[in-house]
Amino acid sequence: MIPMNEAVRIVTDSVTALETTTVPLMDALGHTLADPVVSDINMPPFEKATMDGYAVVGADVAFATKSDPVALEVVEEIRAGSVPTKTVQSGSASRIMTGAPMPEGADTVVMVEDTETENGQVRILEPTATGQNWVPLGEDVRTGDTVLTAPRRIRSPEIGIMAAVGVTEVPVYRRPVVGVVATGDEIVEPDDVPAPGQIRNSNGYSMAAQVLRAEGQSSYMGIAGDTVEDLQRVMQEGLDTCDVLLLSGGVSAGVYDLVQGVMRDLGIEVLFDRIKMKPGKPLTFGVCGQKLVFGLPGNPVSSLVGLEMLVRPALKKMQAVVDCHRPRVTATLEASFSQTPGREQFVPAFTEFVDGSWTTRWVGHHGSADLFSIADANSLFVVGTDQAEVAAGAQVDVVLLTEW
Ligand code: AMP
Ligand code: MG
Repeated sequence: MIPMNEAVRIVTDSVTALETTTVPLMDALGHTLADPVVSDINMPPFEKATMDGYAVVGADVAFATKSDPVALEVVEEIRAGSVPTKTVQSGSASRIMTGAPMPEGADTVVMVEDTETENGQVRILEPTATGQNWVPLGEDVRTGDTVLTAPRRIRSPEIGIMAAVGVTEVPVYRRPVVGVVATGDEIVEPDDVPAPGQIRNSNGYSMAAQVLRAEGQSSYMGIAGDTVEDLQRVMQEGLDTCDVLLLSGGVSAGVYDLVQGVMRDLGIEVLFDRIKMKPGKPLTFGVCGQKLVFGLPGNPVSSLVGLEMLVRPALKKMQAVVDCHRPRVTATLEASFSQTPGREQFVPAFTEFVDGSWTTRWVGHHGSADLFSIADANSLFVVGTDQAEVAAGAQVDVVLLTEW
């Protein structure tokens, strides 16, 4: 039996980033950018008005007031998307819209709010300092500038930046294809009504969902019975078609817990099979070349926790995510919590930020088969291996499962 941090290290050390590929910009959200992005244009690409108003010679309007307005002749109207054709000189102005190019000769934009118009003339009613209300060409970015470094997670701003510099096919790390298999003679699909002795396959579906949350591509492979033949067939198919294979069930010490034996039969090198963690002590991990195989415990809470703590970092690292772990915070424990020492416990909890600090409370699940209380959990607080009791008010380490 190995400690949890050792298990995490073994898993993440077994992972290398997958190859890169390209995806259309609209599909790039959440991927890891694989190459730096360089701008093909200046931004803004021209001298651009930032207000609706009048483009003028600054010296004309520096001292305008309501009682002593400055009258200027309006020579043209410049809309966003059009190109100015007239030069502005002392005594004249061009009506200009936000985002439109500045006309030759003008060095200032007077906001429309500071003006009134009459018979083709504009009267400037307030002073405006020279240089106001427009931005120079290339102020934000110059042609050839690196606008995004890599690797980095593609979020909404990165999407906008790539659109702005004309990148429509985005270089990204390929997403891992993750085969999901439920094992057990008693397991039936959700659209069946379980006969006596049967239970519905919840893990297959929650696992596939967790894979999606880790930006993996889940491939649901159905239910395998507790036979060597069935497990061999499905595992071989998983190794042939997937980067990662997740199995639920069949990893404890029962007579029909055959997963580990079949893994070895297929040449999968088992790197550990027991972790000093709760829930989910029996968790088997093996590698076959670059492929990873996880035998997760059948109990739903154990499966959920094991996947978040061990599989998710692997899926993230395959996509070159540097910070591949769930974020942690320190929180105040609302009520005392006790355990039998010997394993590090990850307790399903509700954690919130109130009045300037984090607080956390156990959601009150009764064991690793209790899927239903877990719907209240948004986090896991950690109880150390040797701790028998954590007092109310103590500071505990919390793994945040935001969006799981
Ligand atoms: P096992 O690890 O195969 O001994 O399974 C442990 C417990 O988890 C048993 O009560 C199983 O019925 C249950 N279980 C196993 N697989 C699933 C599954 N796919 N969905 C829900 N419960 C499961
Ligand atoms: Mg089983």
